[in-house]
Amino acid sequence: MRGIETSGGKISGVVTERGSIACSSVVLAGGAWSSLFARNAGIDLPQLKVMNTVIRTKPIEGGPEHTLYGKDFAFRKRQDGGYTIASRYDNIVEIVPDSFRYMLKFLPALKSEWRSLRFRVSGRFLEEGRMAQRWRMDEETPFERCRVLDPKPSDKWTNHALAQLRQDYPVFAKAEIEQRWAGYIDVSPDAVPVISPVEEVPGFFIATGFSGHGFGIGPGAGRLMADLVTGHTPCVDPTPFRLSRFFDGSKIEVISGV
Ligand SMILES: Cc1cc2nc3c(=O)[nH]c(=O)nc-3n(C[C@H](O)[C@H](O)[C@H](O)COP(=O)(O)OP(=O)(O)OC[C@H]3O[C@@H](n4cnc5c(N)ncnc54)[C@H](O)[C@@H]3O)c2cc1C
Repeated sequence: MRGIETSGGKISGVVTERGSIACSSVVLAGGAWSSLFARNAGIDLPQLKVMNTVIRTKPIEGGPEHTLYGKDFAFRKRQDGGYTIASRYDNIVEIVPDSFRYMLKFLPALKSEWRSLRFRVSGRFLEEGRMAQRWRMDEETPFERCRVLDPKPSDKWTNHALAQLRQDYPVFAKAEIEQRWAGYIDVSPDAVPVISPVEEVPGFFIATGFSGHGFGIGPGAGRLMADLVTGHTPCVDPTPFRLSRFFDGSKIEVISGV
């Protein structure tokens, strides 16, 4: 999707790279791309990315059946008998132009989460700096130039997690790593998602900023978003998820454990 179309200030359609589609409601659910998309539509959506790496092991005989999120590691058994393993310290924050754009909004998160955050300056700064921030609907967009955000996994903290896990659970001594995988977690300033209408543009809605919990709360978030779009009584109070909380003077209270 390249952007939205409005008529008389209200949503009248979306523009894709293959043409326009007329509609009266649009939900922006673009994950880590949502802030950039919103910016081109003139909407300020504070959001940053945190990179996280996970390990997938080969099946392990006699491994634990429970799931654990501990001080040095987290693990969960997979259906194939292997494990997904991660470190709670592996939250890599790449310094990019948006870091400065949204610094004030994220100060409370920085204060409460700094122990688990690893700051890094990388080529991503220039990459994002060169990215168009505004575009016309007949132009190629940043989303078409980069179809999938696929960062290189980091080894350091996942290796540390695996080493600690091997100490505490000797059954992992022979764990063989099948895959390392990294992704960008889209975070909001308070680690609470935005599931909200955009007041300035009737018909425009946003569902993003799941801050590392989108699988867990996705079904409920989808239900709430559907209620808001269709005008049904919301299944839960939508107030904590409103976009305007970042601009109406509300205190930003961070939900810990991003
Ligand atoms: C390493 C890692 C571990 C995680 N572990 C957990 C976990 O244990 N539990 C949990 O609940 N959550 C976890 N998450 C978070 C979870 O993956 C996300 O919260 C969830 O995927 C967010 O869903 P989403 O639909 O908002 O965004 P996404 O899944 O990112 O989907 C957005 C989609 O929109 C597309 N898109 C973006 N812009 C455009 C455009 N302009 N046009 C068309 N398409 C576009 C993107 O290509 C993408 O497919 C983890 C994330 C990572 C990276």
